Amino acid sequence: MKTANGQLGFLSHSNTSASQDEKLRVLAVAAHPDDIEFMMAGTFLLLGDAGAQLHYLTLSNGDLGSTRYDREKTAFIRRYEAKQAAALASAQFHESFCTDLNIDYDQKTIAKLSAVVRQVDPTIVLIPSLSDYMEDHMQTARVALTAVFAKGIPSYQSDPPQPSVSRPVALYHALPHGLLDGLKQRVVPDFCVDISSVIERKVSMLKCHESQGEWLDATQNISSYVQGLYDFATEIGSLYGNCRFAEGWIRHNPLGYSPKDFDPLRTILQPFIRGVSR
Ligand SMILES: [Zn+2]
Repeated sequence: MKTANGQLGFLSHSNTSASQDEKLRVLAVAAHPDDIEFMMAGTFLLLGDAGAQLHYLTLSNGDLGSTRYDREKTAFIRRYEAKQAAALASAQFHESFCTDLNIDYDQKTIAKLSAVVRQVDPTIVLIPSLSDYMEDHMQTARVALTAVFAKGIPSYQSDPPQPSVSRPVALYHALPHGLLDGLKQRVVPDFCVDISSVIERKVSMLKCHESQGEWLDATQNISSYVQGLYDFATEIGSLYGNCRFAEGWIRHNPLGYSPKDFDPLRTILQPFIRGVSR
């Protein structure tokens, strides 16, 4: 398998070669359609370029994201937009199973996500910050942590049932919008990924969410949807990455998920890693 620097060392614990089990798979799990684009898409695209199979999932269908359409029509439009964005990244699209402001840390949601996790059997899972301005984002992170934790427990039953899988997995938290948590405290990344080479592709993915430019302008005083993406990536790059455009990441504690030194995102994207603080 090719990587960004032509080397692959992180799966050397495996005894098999060139099997499906060794395939690098990346699952991005966010709350709402367009969150992956704002928070994660640059890194997601670079991992795809490095040979990873990409999987795209937002827990919520985004059904409250319109001042013009009812919930059903809004969800329909946003599903189409998200599928277009996933296709641009050559990622497999997975169906949402929650609605806006209704992402709950409960057994039903965890079991549904666990089925996707077991089916994908990812090496890397990209998730929102545990500290964020928005509750749906934080709940998504918590649901994902438990769904991934449960993937290797044979007695745990996913919905629909899928067999347990036991490969090591690493989870990485994105940075929140505005880089602050709900109490206005800064959320500082462990490291950044320089996404300057893929920023236009990230913007193209965001532009698929055509309905949201109008919605954010009307409800959250975000004057330009696309400019907001550039500004966010620029701020992370200048504050933490010492590069033009960046995404910031915090690696989740590997306890219960992988060996301590299993850090595939940093290994695979080594040429793009900037501003390491931890
Ligand atoms: Zn969101």
